Amino acid sequence: MNFEYSDKTKALVARVSAFMDEHIYPNEQRHAREVAQGERWKVLPVVQELKAVAKAQGLWNLFLPESARGAGLTNLEYAPLCEVMGRVLWSAEVFNCAAPDTGNMELLERYGSAEHKQRWLEPLLAGEIRSCFAMTEPDVASSDATNIECSITRDGDEYVIDGRKWWSSGAVDPRCALFIVMGKTDPNHPDRHRQQSMIIVPRDTPGVTVVRPLTVFGYDDAPHGHAELIFDKVRVPASNLLLGEGRGFEIAQGRLGPGRIHHCMRAIGMAERALEFMCKRSVQREAFGKRLAEQGVTLERIAQSRILIDQARLLVLKAADMMDRVGNKAALKEIGMIKVAAPAMACQVIDWAMQLHGAGGLSSDFPLAYDYAQVRTLRFADGPDEVHRNQIAKLELARYR
Ligand SMILES: Cc1cc2nc3c(=O)[nH]c(=O)nc-3n(C[C@H](O)[C@H](O)[C@H](O)COP(=O)(O)OP(=O)(O)OC[C@H]3O[C@@H](n4cnc5c(N)ncnc54)[C@H](O)[C@@H]3O)c2cc1C
Repeated sequence: MNFEYSDKTKALVARVSAFMDEHIYPNEQRHAREVAQGERWKVLPVVQELKAVAKAQGLWNLFLPESARGAGLTNLEYAPLCEVMGRVLWSAEVFNCAAPDTGNMELLERYGSAEHKQRWLEPLLAGEIRSCFAMTEPDVASSDATNIECSITRDGDEYVIDGRKWWSSGAVDPRCALFIVMGKTDPNHPDRHRQQSMIIVPRDTPGVTVVRPLTVFGYDDAPHGHAELIFDKVRVPASNLLLGEGRGFEIAQGRLGPGRIHHCMRAIGMAERALEFMCKRSVQREAFGKRLAEQGVTLERIAQSRILIDQARLLVLKAADMMDRVGNKAALKEIGMIKVAAPAMACQVIDWAMQLHGAGGLSSDFPLAYDYAQVRTLRFADGPDEVHRNQIAKLELARYR
């Protein structure tokens, strides 16, 4: 394995980093001010302005591999760019590389019809609309998606959707134009993995109700947000079904690969920035007659953070490389491994960084507390750690059976 980034990757890392220096870090306070002012669910002028700049510079849709519609980068080439974006979470949207749109765009690119692509994928790629993925339900353990109860029933030329969802990220964004909904078209199919389907529901369809936005550790994640939704006899054309009845799991497998390892890449960026904050603070601040940087425990934590970050990055790059070379299915174990390793690593590093900052570390004067809340959710938002570990262990044990 060659550990050196290619010249193409290095040049793009330099361009994305320069964009962050020039446009993102200097606008962090403006972003926070715009979020805090007035209506919670709105379009932020700062993001709209910077999107135009990123697009004009060609730093746009960098995430989409194996498609003429993307920037032509592999997962391995994209990983370091996504890491840089992860240093300031809202920046991913500026490059049109934000979740859940990235996963939804990949889904539409791989499984959508020509009509779906024209109506939904093109405006998503242009950054004109946003989207939401609605699978999780409050009433069932949704980490096991065979439990999903939302029904999708054929009625003539239409499907009728009934169900309750929650944690539908992005549903409250005023630009969200479509929900990709997972439900059951055949709840009695003997194979539990052939009961589900995915269907596109335009947001303005009668019968769709946004019940409430949810909070994460008290943060509402405005203006993006996560919503509870009700689908009450929602009717959409039969052509809105993706790929075919009973193929929801097949699509989910595809979606949960690339779209989701981006979270791991961003978590590395967040951890890297937290370590930077930790180092800068520790050389400035003094307690009990010594700089914090001279306390043994600080040295220990800084060293351990560097070890953990570099370990996680290498594993992410390995997974990305395998996805490119042997495909998402063959890279299942490596994808599972980084989904466990990267959030755990970032939680630990950010926790140490908060500790070193004292009470300030828990405030919004530093990005640490908010970043911590974000990465902590990845220990189940991307599928619970336990489920990934079960999968990894089964694949490991398979060699001995
Ligand atoms: C910030 C955030 C954003 C999200 N965005 C979206 C979104 O956009 N769309 C969407 O559909 N969902 C979204 N989710 C929901 C997320 O995907 C689910 O929370 C996740 O799949 C787990 O489902 P659950 O919450 O129903 O937990 P459950 O399935 O009830 O699991 C609860 C716990 O049970 C344990 N457990 C489960 N299975 C096993 C096992 N096999 N072995 C041992 N222990 C186990 C684990 O500890 C697990 O955490 C989001 C969640 C968060 C927090």
